[in-house]
Amino acid sequence: MTMKRKKLDVVIVGGGMIGLSLAIRLAQQNRRVMVLERHSQPELSEELALRVSALNDRSRSVLKDCGAWPLVQEHRSGPYQSMQVWDKDSPAHIEFSAKEINAEDLGAIVENNVVEHFLWQRAEQAGVEILQTQQWTMVHGGDESHPAEIEVGEWLLSADLIIGADGGRSKVRQYAELPISFWDYGQQGIVANIRTEQPHNGVARQVFLPTGPLALLPTPDSHTVSIVWSADEALARNLLNEPAERFAKQVETESGRVLGGCECVSDIKAFPLRMQYARQWYQHRIVLAGDAAHTIHPLAGQGANLGFGDVKALTEKLEGVDLSSLAQLHRSLSTYQRERKADTQLMIAAMETFKRGFGTANPVVKGLRALAFALPNKLTFLKRKLAEVALG
Ligand SMILES: Cc1cc2nc3c(=O)[nH]c(=O)nc-3n(C[C@H](O)[C@H](O)[C@H](O)COP(=O)(O)OP(=O)(O)OC[C@H]3O[C@@H](n4cnc5c(N)ncnc54)[C@H](O)[C@@H]3O)c2cc1C
Repeated sequence: MTMKRKKLDVVIVGGGMIGLSLAIRLAQQNRRVMVLERHSQPELSEELALRVSALNDRSRSVLKDCGAWPLVQEHRSGPYQSMQVWDKDSPAHIEFSAKEINAEDLGAIVENNVVEHFLWQRAEQAGVEILQTQQWTMVHGGDESHPAEIEVGEWLLSADLIIGADGGRSKVRQYAELPISFWDYGQQGIVANIRTEQPHNGVARQVFLPTGPLALLPTPDSHTVSIVWSADEALARNLLNEPAERFAKQVETESGRVLGGCECVSDIKAFPLRMQYARQWYQHRIVLAGDAAHTIHPLAGQGANLGFGDVKALTEKLEGVDLSSLAQLHRSLSTYQRERKADTQLMIAAMETFKRGFGTANPVVKGLRALAFALPNKLTFLKRKLAEVALG
């Protein structure tokens, strides 16, 4: 069989939030871009989806640049004005509100598939070709005189740059043999939508339990929160085997009935939690972005925000660059890697501070922490960290 050849500037593997935003931003630089995505375009639904992300200002501005933010906002999003974080077994408690920094909100809760739906639409309008497939093979990683090559069915695609935005189990990363560091938290992230007796009033809440943090994120519906319960394996197994009513009761009890009675109004799903980050982000004509480069614990809700930071940095670094020149390309990719690795490491460090500050079972740490939190809840170190992490 003779192969049909197609020459592109950039091929992006993975059409999640990060891959699609990159595709649009690069198409806006007049690059010929193709996205390979396993799934079809996510459909909009009346029902609130299970996977949500709390997006900070930087992420929203990337979506604005893509022309997708107004569409998401018009369809459904839940801005939140304050945050409350507390420890179940001690007086430790922090509150932080947009007012304190003269901002309208601290961020917005969006459903991942709503964002993807509109990004997909905008990508097609921007001239990006999206091919629905997962049957592709990397033939050549590219070098000074050779573009990178991917075989898809009868097509041989060649491109000056291949971006792996194919999530935590990135096949692109494996092909390029980019080394990662990782550790397993031995926890599952359990997600569900919970209807609550009291309105959430636009407050993002998180309670640290000895078995892991439980987040209650305010959705666009004033009486529905999207929960992310990061639970140790044994507890996760029990929770997943519970009938929905008992599960909701546990959320109610463990959250100290902060929103009154709870009722589960969705499926209950679980995701294994693992921290991993690439020690090297590019090789030949291949580079990583989003979860393919880093997955972090959802306790600070920052995974997607880090990915949007990658989108912003990578598109800036590639602006005006002759992608066919490997020397030019590598200069850009090396600054991209340096910046984004530093940001990722800062985020990981901030999260470890949180985990140490809250949710420990050690009685000595608990005692000291209770003392620290008895001080006026003004500008404690944790509070500053909370603000930094929230605002991105
Ligand atoms: C429980 C939980 C809660 C979270 N909450 C938050 C939050 O509140 N805020 C936040 O910022 N982040 C949150 N995150 C993290 C966030 O969901 C991710 O960081 C974000 O979705 C990553 O986007 P991505 O586009 O890089 O990867 P993905 O969303 O994983 O997209 C990758 C895409 O690549 C496609 N793909 C994969 N392999 C192939 C292949 N071989 N061929 C073709 N296509 C392929 C997939 O179909 C998918 O569409 C949470 C994560 C978890 C687990």
